[in-house]
Amino acid sequence: ATPTAVMVGTGVGASQGVLIKGGGALESAHKVNCIVFDKTGTLTVGKPVVVNTHLLKTMLLRDFYMVVAAAEANSEHPLAKALVEYANKFRPASSDLCWLPEVQDFVSITGHGVRALVQNKTLLVGNTKLMLESEITISEDAYEILKEAEEMARTGILVSFDGVLVGIVEISDPVKPEAQDVVSILKSMNIKSIVVTGDNWGTANAIAKEVGIETVMAETLPEGKAEKVKELQMSGLTVAMVGDGINDSPALVAADVGMAIGAGTDIAIEAADIVLMRSNLEDVITAIDLSRKTFKRIR
Ligand code: ADP
Ligand code: MG
Repeated sequence: ATPTAVMVGTGVGASQGVLIKGGGALESAHKVNCIVFDKTGTLTVGKPVVVNTHLLKTMLLRDFYMVVAAAEANSEHPLAKALVEYANKFRPASSDLCWLPEVQDFVSITGHGVRALVQNKTLLVGNTKLMLESEITISEDAYEILKEAEEMARTGILVSFDGVLVGIVEISDPVKPEAQDVVSILKSMNIKSIVVTGDNWGTANAIAKEVGIETVMAETLPEGKAEKVKELQMSGLTVAMVGDGINDSPALVAADVGMAIGAGTDIAIEAADIVLMRSNLEDVITAIDLSRKTFKRIR
């Protein structure tokens, strides 16, 4: 392609909300034959909501959410925001000021959840890994609740207080309406789709099934996502990564083409070669199409 064709290509992209950072990115995109999708915020809408709560000990829902929100108010994670948002239902009408108990020693543990001291007792909010690493017992009943939630593509968040599992919150984050079509169009373009996520295997498999993706990598840490990309490249594939989160940035950099969701975090947008301003997955195809047109047909 001539420099003019590349300029035209990036210009057309920009007019459609596909920001291509330079000719190199536009060129690489036409060779892509494998796309790695992040789950949360990429395949899914990314606005998780609490849909069900299971209390495993006798306590008021209000008290449960008060301690959960006290800790999660310190986290930027979308799941934390869903929990805080839901907890606001229980906020007394009279209290304009903070109604949540004080929190000490807050820590956020990547890929696991959060830990804090609330009312001088240890509170944990996160996945089974977080609980097991802290030696919290998860009963058979609790595992059953998690399994059922995951089969419905929901994420089960466990809450322990003072060393005891006290509840499980089911959080739902629906898939984007275009996701399934995009995956099937990519298939027809001979491009293989894969999901990688820090979320658990059950939920990841359910989401993958909904959108028609067969290859799933779950419970991965940010470096694990990048390693998966490198592994695919070693096997001879040209890989695009599509993601929105801070935890996707190493993989966005490692990929032949990193594509960030426009509604995603600044760090992901910076790490990417292409930014999908409309946050619509169809623009993954727009970008590849544009590259194919620029570098294959027009010579
Ligand atoms: P993703 O790839 O889906 O963006 P993350 O690595 O951010 O995943 O998180 C993986 C898992 O860790 C979540 O599905 C959740 O179970 C747990 N987790 C992370 N942060 C939090 C939090 N603030 N509160 C509760 N759970 C969390
Ligand atoms: Mg994400």
